[in-house]
Amino acid sequence: MGAEGTTEDAVRNHAAGGGPAPGSVALDGVTVRFRARRHEVTALTGIGLEVGAGGFTAIVGPSGCGKSTLLKLVAGLLSPTEGEVRLGGERVRGPRPDIGYVFQRAALLDWRTARRNILLQAEMRGLPKEPARRRAAELITMTGLDGFEDAYPHELSGGMQQRVALCRALLHRPPVLLMDEPFGALDALTREQMNTELNRVWRETGTTVLLVTHSIAEACALAERVVVMSPRPGRITETVEVGLGPLRVYAETVERPAFRTATARVRALLGAASAGD
Ligand code: ADP
Ligand code: MG
Repeated sequence: MGAEGTTEDAVRNHAAGGGPAPGSVALDGVTVRFRARRHEVTALTGIGLEVGAGGFTAIVGPSGCGKSTLLKLVAGLLSPTEGEVRLGGERVRGPRPDIGYVFQRAALLDWRTARRNILLQAEMRGLPKEPARRRAAELITMTGLDGFEDAYPHELSGGMQQRVALCRALLHRPPVLLMDEPFGALDALTREQMNTELNRVWRETGTTVLLVTHSIAEACALAERVVVMSPRPGRITETVEVGLGPLRVYAETVERPAFRTATARVRALLGAASAGD
């Protein structure tokens, strides 16, 4: 336990060192207003957030507080009404190819095997076939899908389907991975396994991760910091630093004092928010 973090930190610092970091994410004074019928909805207001390259940040907050909107801004699928979003130091002006996205539903194509669902990412981007196949094979091993490459989605459990979706999202080696309640539909035990696996994937790929989750435990078990948001219009109430190293094994992590401190803080912040003002 005492040695955790040293090697991973060294690798990540080395990977992130020098020059503009492709995986950094920044939101500066961001407000998003939607025009819905006659009235306007302010989804997010005054959002300032910086995530360093290779960082893991979780976002929690009540339904409708703008969590999905925040991820869409980073992906360039939405433009802020005010403020600026930057990816790798560069202003986001439209859909960004250098991100991976995982949603609550795996959204796999029924008629394609696991491997061919993963390779869809390469086909859509016109990437060279051989390197894509090699990368798919690496990711399949990394996520414990060996032996299921040729299975169709209906032959896979929910957890395995989400692993396939994760591999697909990572195929093109995106510097940033956006996850929107990716494990929300899984049973508790599978979810814990997926958390441990996501942690390994994060450490092994050095990808910056932004994870939206409803689970306080999941947020604190995985992230380096947890952004707690207020009810709509979403603002950042507080960013809680989770004082745990990068190596997380769910069952062990949840027993650690730093985990308990962080979850208690996040719960208090969410409780205070829902109590209203
Ligand atoms: P969350 O993911 O935290 O549940 P969302 O980001 O999906 O919240 O939505 C934030 C708020 O913005 C909600 O009130 C939602 O109804 C509204 N909203 C989201 N997208 C749109 C849209 N395209 N048009 C109008 N209102 C929207
Ligand atoms: Mg959402």
